[in-house]
Amino acid sequence: MSVRVRFAPSPTGYLHVGNVRTALFNWFFVRRNGGSLVLRIEDTDVERSERHYEDQLLEDLRWLGINWDEGVDVGGYVGPYRQTDRFPLYREKVQQLLSNGRAYHCFCSREQLEEDRKKQLAEGRSIRYVGRCRGLDAKESEECLKQGRQATIRLRVRPGTVAFEDLVFGLIEVDTDNVGDFILLRSDGSAQYNLACVVDDSMMGITHVIRGEGHISNTPRQILVYEALGLPVPKFAHLSTILGPDGAKLSKRHGATSLAEIRQLGYLPEAVVNYLALLGWAPPEDGAEILSPEEITSVFDFKSVNVNPATFDLKKFNWVNRSHLKECPLPRLFNLAAPFLERTGLVGTSSSPEIQSWIEELLSVIVSYLDRLEDLGKETEFLWNFDPESDLSDSKALEILGDSAAIGVIRSFCQELEKTGAGAVSYQIYKEAVLGVMKSTGTKGKGLFRPIRLAITGKTFGPELDKIIPIIEKGSQLTLQTEIPGVLDRVRSILGELDLR
Ligand code: GLU
Repeated sequence: MSVRVRFAPSPTGYLHVGNVRTALFNWFFVRRNGGSLVLRIEDTDVERSERHYEDQLLEDLRWLGINWDEGVDVGGYVGPYRQTDRFPLYREKVQQLLSNGRAYHCFCSREQLEEDRKKQLAEGRSIRYVGRCRGLDAKESEECLKQGRQATIRLRVRPGTVAFEDLVFGLIEVDTDNVGDFILLRSDGSAQYNLACVVDDSMMGITHVIRGEGHISNTPRQILVYEALGLPVPKFAHLSTILGPDGAKLSKRHGATSLAEIRQLGYLPEAVVNYLALLGWAPPEDGAEILSPEEITSVFDFKSVNVNPATFDLKKFNWVNRSHLKECPLPRLFNLAAPFLERTGLVGTSSSPEIQSWIEELLSVIVSYLDRLEDLGKETEFLWNFDPESDLSDSKALEILGDSAAIGVIRSFCQELEKTGAGAVSYQIYKEAVLGVMKSTGTKGKGLFRPIRLAITGKTFGPELDKIIPIIEKGSQLTLQTEIPGVLDRVRSILGELDLR
C-alpha cells in the first residue's frame, strides 16, 4: 500500500517554526517511502481564517522546496481540499452516526454546561459532558427540534479504553471515561475539528497522520469517530513540542519564529530545512549534521525521531545557515544578497556585469562572517559608511587610539603608501608598507594592525585586510550608488580627522 500523508494547516496566521517542521516531516516521510502528500486547508474557524494567510502559506512552502501532490491549488481526485468546501460531507457522516445511534442531539444550554463544568471543577473531577441528553429517544429529540431548539450533535462515546501505537511516543492508552461525549457538529451546523479531520483523513485515504504533539489528546477522540463510522484507523506520529532556550514553548517572544520573518532575515531554504529536521530528528549514523534536503530524505525514519521536546537554538541555526551559505555558488549568492545590499544604498537595483563580479568577489570574502544575509549590512559597513568623523568617535576606535603609538603607526602607514606613488594599493604594496611601518615605528601585532585596519576601513573589526584591500580598490573604480574612496584616500581622510583633534 502506498503511503498517503497530509499537511493540514489552519490559515489563521503565518507559518511558524512548529508547523513548518510538521510539514517537513510529512514531506521527508513521503518522499522517503514513496506516495503522496496532500495539502489540506483547515479553515473551519471562519472568524479567524483569512485567504491571505493561505496564500502566504503556500508561497512559504514552495520557497522551502516542499512540493505536494494534491491540494487546494493543484487539485486531485479526493478534493475539495479546503474544509469550508466540505461541510455537506461532514453533515452526511453525522447523519449516518445519528441513524445508527452512535451520535445524538444535545439540547443543553451554554449556561447548563457552564454550571456542570464549575461543579466538576469544584469536586475535582475531570471536565466532561455529563450526558444529560444521552438518554433522549428519537421522538423526544424530534419534538425539541420541531420546537426550534438549538442542538449540537455529540458522539455517544463507548466505555472502555482507546489505545494506539504512536510511531514516536509508543503505546498510548486512554480511558474513555475521561473523554466524555464530545461535540461533532455545532448548533450552527459547522463541523468540529475532530469530526472534520476524521472525515477528511479517511476520505483522502491518509495512511499516516503526522502532526504536532499538541494534537495527541485529540487522537483518542478521532479514533472513537473512526470506530463509530466503521472506518479503518490510520497510523499516527506526533512530533514533540519545540521549546525556546528558556524551556518555555517556542513563541513570538523568543524572536523570529514565523517563516516570513526567517526569510526576511536571510536564511537559505535548505538551511531552514536542515535545521528544522534536526529539531527532534537525528541522522541515523553519528556524524555530519549539515545535510541537503535530499540527504535527509534518503535516510529519514521515525525510529530516529526523539520523543523529548526539542530546543530551538539560534546559535546552531545560524551555524547551519552559515555552513549552507558557504556552499552556495556565487551567482546564486549574488541574487540572494542583492536586495540586502540594496538596502545599504551601496548598489542600486540593477548591476552591470563589472559590479556583479565585484560583488561576487566581496561575497566570497565575507560569506564566512555571515550568520544570515541580513548581516551583510553590518559586514559591508566599511564600504558604504566610511565616515572618519563618526568612525573615530566609536568607543572601540577610541580605545585603539588610546595606545600612544597608534597615531604614529597611521601616519607612517600613510607615508609608506605615498612613497610608492602608485595611487592604487595592491596586495604587494600593502605588505611592503606594513613592513616599512614595522621598521620605522617598532610596533607589531595588535599595536600595528588595529590602527592600520582603522585607517583603511574606519572600523575596528572585519575580514582580513589583505583580502578586502583589492575589493576596496576595485570598488573605488566603479560607479556604485554610493561611491567609495580608495585605500590611500581613506588613510588620508582618517589622518586628516586625527590632525583636527
Ligand atoms: N489544522 C490543525 C493545525 O493547524 C492540524 C490538525 C492535524 O494535523 O490534524 O494545528
